[in-house]
Amino acid sequence: MPWFRVDDTLAFHAKTLAAGNAAMGLWVRAGAWSMQQLTDGFVPSHVARQMGTKGEANRLVQAGLWGELPSGYAFHQWDGRQPSADDVKRAAEAKGTAGAHGNHLRWHKRRGVIHPDCEWCKEGEAS
Ligand SMILES: [Zn+2]
Repeated sequence: MPWFRVDDTLAFHAKTLAAGNAAMGLWVRAGAWSMQQLTDGFVPSHVARQMGTKGEANRLVQAGLWGELPSGYAFHQWDGRQPSADDVKRAAEAKGTAGAHGNHLRWHKRRGVIHPDCEWCKEGEAS
């Protein structure tokens, strides 16, 4: 479960004040949605409209928080401020691998069991 990051200067940032609380509600919801869906900061128009009004989306564009694209919106400076979809996928893969290895150590190696479906048992890993 990746997190959508919010900078600690957001509360009183000029762009936040320009957009207003209603539009910022849309911004936060859309950010969480984009992170969940791994769209790298892209929010299709029809999705944005489910979370806020066209006027709120326009205020985000006018404040410089969103860029407007033909089919939706793009978060300003998503790259570098949010983990990319690739980063999230790699982290999940690494975590899954680490979990599987932990299970091998706990349930197989410490008990002296060799499980036919375990890749570490198959490799005869001693660690
Ligand atoms: Zn094993």
